[in-house]
Amino acid sequence: MCHIRSHPCEPDAVRLLVVEDDPTIAAPLREGLVREGFEVELVATGAGALAAGPVDLVLLDLGLPDLEGRVVCQELRARTSVPIIVVTARADELDRVVLLELGADDYVVKPFGFRELVARIRAVLRRTSGQRTTPTDLVEVGDLTVDRRSRAVRWRGAQVAVTPKEYDLLAYLAADPGAVKGREQLMHDVWDENWWGSTKTLDVHVASLRKKLHPDLIETVRSVGYRLVPLDGGPA
Ligand code: CA
Repeated sequence: MCHIRSHPCEPDAVRLLVVEDDPTIAAPLREGLVREGFEVELVATGAGALAAGPVDLVLLDLGLPDLEGRVVCQELRARTSVPIIVVTARADELDRVVLLELGADDYVVKPFGFRELVARIRAVLRRTSGQRTTPTDLVEVGDLTVDRRSRAVRWRGAQVAVTPKEYDLLAYLAADPGAVKGREQLMHDVWDENWWGSTKTLDVHVASLRKKLHPDLIETVRSVGYRLVPLDGGPA
């Protein structure tokens, strides 16, 4: 395995880990990415990928000589929230859902255009930049767990099915537990900034979440709005 670090002293450069065993792809790819201003560390094996230091994004070829690429992806995801773009030559075998379940943020299929790849890298970095400071994408408030990666909601460990809008509302309230959110603010931030209709739909969603999770989880603050109350261990 080879660790090649380009421009190691350059401050603020986005660091990419490129995991690619085919040197005819890896070398020009690295050159191109360095020209784009990225700092590139290149490894040719799954073991090398798992041994590499912290980076800002991983570009992971699935067809590696030592380890199954999917295993590498899963391992990386178990250890870190680093964004991962999977590279695969097997378009026909590609199962987007499986890749996303393994923790990949996006994928490209070989042969890919270099410009497209760079655009994907920048898009994933933009999308994930707000999350990079948190070690995981799990928001835990008392007995409530909101998984922002899979949009799953758990109450006392058991998964609860919620609608997309119920999820949006709950995730919004859970991001700032205890804080009172005004009705207009909620309609603006969770629904649509151009919303002009009744805020009745907000009450309907709150009522449904209370029913599915816990009657006291979302508290009504009279003539203002709602707030999420951290509940812990009480009777359901
Ligand atoms: Ca390969």
